[in-house]
Amino acid sequence: MSLTTEQAYSDLLSETREAALLESCGAVLGWDEQTYMPVGGAEHRSNQLALLAGLAHEKATAPRVGELLQHLESTRDVPADSVMSANIREIRRDYNRATRLPKSLVEEMSKTTSLSQQAWVSARKNRDFAQFLPWLEKVTRLKREVAQAIGYGQGVPYDALLDEYEPGMTAADVTTLFEALKADLVPLIAQVRDSGRQPRREILTRRYPIPAQQQFSIAAAEAIGFNFQQGRLDVAHHPFCSGFGPGDCRLTTRYNEQHFPGAFFGTLHEAGHGMYEQGLDPALWGSPVGRACSLAIHESQSRMWENLVGRSQSFWKWLYPKARETFPEALGQTPLDEFYFAINDVQPSFIRVEADEATYNLHILLRFDMERPLISGDLAPADVPGMWNELSHKYLGITPPHDSEGCLQDIHWSAGLVGYFPTYSLGNMVASQLFEAAHRDLGDLSSQFARGEFQPLHQWLTTKVHRLGRKYPALELVERVTGEPLSHRPLIRHLQHKLGALYGI
Ligand code: ZN
Repeated sequence: MSLTTEQAYSDLLSETREAALLESCGAVLGWDEQTYMPVGGAEHRSNQLALLAGLAHEKATAPRVGELLQHLESTRDVPADSVMSANIREIRRDYNRATRLPKSLVEEMSKTTSLSQQAWVSARKNRDFAQFLPWLEKVTRLKREVAQAIGYGQGVPYDALLDEYEPGMTAADVTTLFEALKADLVPLIAQVRDSGRQPRREILTRRYPIPAQQQFSIAAAEAIGFNFQQGRLDVAHHPFCSGFGPGDCRLTTRYNEQHFPGAFFGTLHEAGHGMYEQGLDPALWGSPVGRACSLAIHESQSRMWENLVGRSQSFWKWLYPKARETFPEALGQTPLDEFYFAINDVQPSFIRVEADEATYNLHILLRFDMERPLISGDLAPADVPGMWNELSHKYLGITPPHDSEGCLQDIHWSAGLVGYFPTYSLGNMVASQLFEAAHRDLGDLSSQFARGEFQPLHQWLTTKVHRLGRKYPALELVERVTGEPLSHRPLIRHLQHKLGALYGI
């Protein structure tokens, strides 16, 4: 029986839609696990999630998907540069990745990473790298096997791992961008250090009552454009955003009465992710073009609202009077410029997730410098702490007192997330480059922010980025929207401009 192109495409989409529905059921359970589930539910929940993950994998690798793809790839009536051609390209990519991995390897990886995360929690608690080492060795070996199974053409094994998070990007692309970033960023941070200036840091650790923080954060997320009719904000130990599907996107944050920036900027960050999810085309949900483009593009949205908008002077010109009203005890006597300096404090520190907007990228450069040789075999897992400390000294000028503030601080490697870190700094670069383009298109954004107007920027991002989903690979999307290939320069310009004024450099 011969199938029309239209029929084959529609059948293919209903297959991917069902896989996406199963995945989104898993997302609801995952969200609940981290927010409201009682501890007693853990084992039953892990069975539920494993069943759903297995069913979704079966759907995604069904031979029928392969047949439909083959049929569509052999016809000539798929219009170039269409949603249809992009969906076929992306479903093929996902299908190849999923079917090239032997089931036994997937299962071994899943079992290993679940045990290795437990070992990591305990090793980090005990500051004992030796306890984690056998697991790091095992995860590294399995990730190398994954890279071999997936393939990497003329490139390097790391490419196959990076491609999971940043489709189409290679280690060589990232190296070029990161080397350029490093060359400009390291001296800039040294200038900040040598300026001798520093803000009054205690401003941010005064008493900020939690109910007031809650109200204040929600109001700010709503003002920048997160739609609470189609989303919620709850409390979780590790902040995240989970888009369940059209009309339902969940954000989480965590509160500390003695630390204002954590919950507030965390909420803006997750709201930025959430606005991306809310801006995807609901009619295309369940197909690749109805999904976020890549992790770097996702991160560009969160970083833009957190840093480029939320830590700007004009944003606080608008919001500071309200902040003083909400937190009279903490901020009643503090002028705006002192508060603004405090939220833009640049200071090398050990922990990535607590790092400022500038030094954060050095934490990523360090991890990228280690992951590549770890996967190629040039770096033995046993030598990880030594190399970590050496690079920390080289980039940040500080050496961690113990491995829990060094190579044991992140969950990623224990969870098998190798190739993930670069997307954070790529996201920072993309954010600055998109922001410059928005500024060109929309006029003076600062005066809009100072009036509390965020809709023009939100609308611009929705049209130029969110609605396109996965239609173009990340690097192509950035070039189409901004007219330039992705570069570290807009990020450096942004930091030079802001830090120049604050630190007199
Ligand atoms: Zn993020």
